[in-house]
Amino acid sequence: MKIFDGHNDILNKITKMPDPLNTKAFLVSDPGHLDFPRALKAGFMGGFFAVYTSNPSSVPSVKDRMILSDEGYRITLAPALDYEYAHQSALQMIDLLFKIQEDSLGQFQVVTSLTELDHCLQNNIMAAVLHLEGADPIQPDLENLSFFYDKGMRSLGITWSRPNKFGHGVPFAYPSGPDTGPGLTEAGKDLVKSCNDLGVLIDLAHLNEKGFWDVAELSSHPLVSTHTAAGSLIPKTRNVSDDQLKAIQESDGVVGIIFSVNDLDGEQRPKDDAPLSKIIDHISYVADLIGVDHVAFGSDFDGTVIPSELGDVSGYPKLVSLLKKSGFSS
Ligand SMILES: [Zn+2]
Repeated sequence: MKIFDGHNDILNKITKMPDPLNTKAFLVSDPGHLDFPRALKAGFMGGFFAVYTSNPSSVPSVKDRMILSDEGYRITLAPALDYEYAHQSALQMIDLLFKIQEDSLGQFQVVTSLTELDHCLQNNIMAAVLHLEGADPIQPDLENLSFFYDKGMRSLGITWSRPNKFGHGVPFAYPSGPDTGPGLTEAGKDLVKSCNDLGVLIDLAHLNEKGFWDVAELSSHPLVSTHTAAGSLIPKTRNVSDDQLKAIQESDGVVGIIFSVNDLDGEQRPKDDAPLSKIIDHISYVADLIGVDHVAFGSDFDGTVIPSELGDVSGYPKLVSLLKKSGFSS
């Protein structure tokens, strides 16, 4: 089985290493969730490679921003990123992505069209969609949107879990739904229309509920959330409600189920582990509600804590066999 995965953070991870262009940390080996040899062996033939900028060191850690209560927890939102900081960071990750392509000697390709994606999948070339996770490096007048498009960007998340000039991401909190703040700004609405015109997918992961409905109203393209889970099973800000799932179905869109233990499982504070069966629970729930054609994998490898039973990308065959045991076909 060839797997196409909705989200990973390998680019962010490598650019934080002493050599930010160390392509061997993907192409040869790496102790994290994802590298090329293990991915290939597990059938991971491509996915969305996120250009995600971490909070600067001046922002207090998650632990320091966490407020515990009797029912759960809330991690206060990080402030908006400085434009220059976000821009530089994005360029560095994009350089890394293309250096991986170059050093792979034809085995890994950044794809910018369905034709290219099909070609890669048919010829066992690993395919990467350049995904910008958070529009923080885009100027509010959208002056440089085409620059990122020309660089290869074909997917854009309006926000990460932070505010920016375009919209408001959700804070991490449990128990809570995704309705945590105002909708898109005027610049955000213009961004949706411009991405539609260019043919850039809008990713709804991390965006709050009002922003989600703004995109649903404005966008003429299928609604996609690349890495999230079912809010009816686990009421967390990052997870989507049944109404949101139905809107995704009606638009002929797709939901990638995240492997993050914190979104899959309902504990009162961030968790270290969850059983692999939790991924099946969320996939089954979404498949039952909106149909199996609208469900995908959205691992978040190298960006989160995943079930130890899965371990890393090598665990995909285990997950696939568990899905088959649960009644899913190839
Ligand atoms: Zn994410």
